[in-house]
Amino acid sequence: MALALLAAEGVVARQWQAAPMPAAGAAQAIGGTSNGCLQGAETLPVSGPGYEVARVGRHRRYGHPALIAFIQHLAAAARRTKLGLVIVGDLSQPRGGPTPSGHRSHQSGLDADIAYAAPAGVRAGHLSLRAREHVKAVPVVDLPTQTLTAAWTPSIAAVLALAAADPAVDRIFVNPVIKKALCEDATTAHAPWQARLRPWWGHHDHFHVRLGCPADSPLCVPQDPPPDDGCGAALVWWFSPAASAAQAKKKEAEAESPEPLLPPACADVLVAPPLTPAP
Ligand SMILES: [Zn+2]
Repeated sequence: MALALLAAEGVVARQWQAAPMPAAGAAQAIGGTSNGCLQGAETLPVSGPGYEVARVGRHRRYGHPALIAFIQHLAAAARRTKLGLVIVGDLSQPRGGPTPSGHRSHQSGLDADIAYAAPAGVRAGHLSLRAREHVKAVPVVDLPTQTLTAAWTPSIAAVLALAAADPAVDRIFVNPVIKKALCEDATTAHAPWQARLRPWWGHHDHFHVRLGCPADSPLCVPQDPPPDDGCGAALVWWFSPAASAAQAKKKEAEAESPEPLLPPACADVLVAPPLTPAP
């Protein structure tokens, strides 16, 4: 029974993956980030001022226009202030929805993975499609020892501050070691955006930006606001044995639980005609 269910889910995810083009209609994030879809997606160009997209072959550079604008603003600001090239990973599939591999979230066009640091040798505007497939994000946290690596720099903290200060952002997931560094740094400890930076497992080589529900998306389901600034006692938990135990439990539960049903509006998004690009 469980196996049959899992197989059926794989089929659903593959249908979403197979949609080659964004769905026609006004841009709209539908549902939640872990059970939703995306109408009228905008495509992030593979290269732009201050950023490059990695692994274009994954076909996940689609988002709500607010997400595309966020990335382009962040990259332009990082370039202006010489904080380094922004390397962009997964956004959503052309119509969002579940993916057969990789994430539970990223379904409604409001999530993006961004590398903390560009690998050496990656030059703006000089990446072939082939080279993009092999861009590897640089880890700034050593997971076994839970310490920052030599790749961590003040510029990375500045990029995170820029990103977190954007009013469109709901939250940004970073490794707890990074959260701790920013909680302890006097210049960032009490920043108004501190609560938006949320400690989470992994995220040692990229951060994960999640935007809030855009005003044009009435079917978008918002997340509860962060309960605290994420520093202090709540952060201590992340370095306790309970946190590793919880991670193992979470993985197990995800493997066993069926994917949540998508909102009814997503059935229309899946079969809608392709969006014709504006002339
Ligand atoms: Zn992500």
